[in-house]
Amino acid sequence: MIGTRHRIEFYADKCVGCQICYKACFVDVIRWDIEVKKPVFKYVEDCEHCNYCEVSCKRGAIKVIPDFSSQSFRQSFDRYGKNRRND
Ligand code: SF4
Ligand code: SF4
Repeated sequence: MIGTRHRIEFYADKCVGCQICYKACFVDVIRWDIEVKKPVFKYVEDCEHCNYCEVSCKRGAIKVIPDFSSQSFRQSFDRYGKNRRND
């Protein structure tokens, strides 16, 4: 389990090293460990809680657990809400 205010749980025993989560993350949270062929959740504090990594993992190896009470979560929510209203 990796964590700051938010947590991303990674079940390495389920991971088959397909890199889908690594390619799905549009920010810099997920890096790739070439030697062990598994993702590394390096910058969890930058996670935008989009859940792309979790839903794209067909093996169920990732669980994103946002801290709904945190300031950064509310800021992310506000930002996306404003973007939707401007569409
Ligand atoms: S998508 Fe799932 S199985 Fe594929 S590398 Fe990521 S954690 Fe492993
Ligand atoms: S929830 Fe989104 S931003 Fe966070 S690690 Fe997964 S893909 Fe990246």
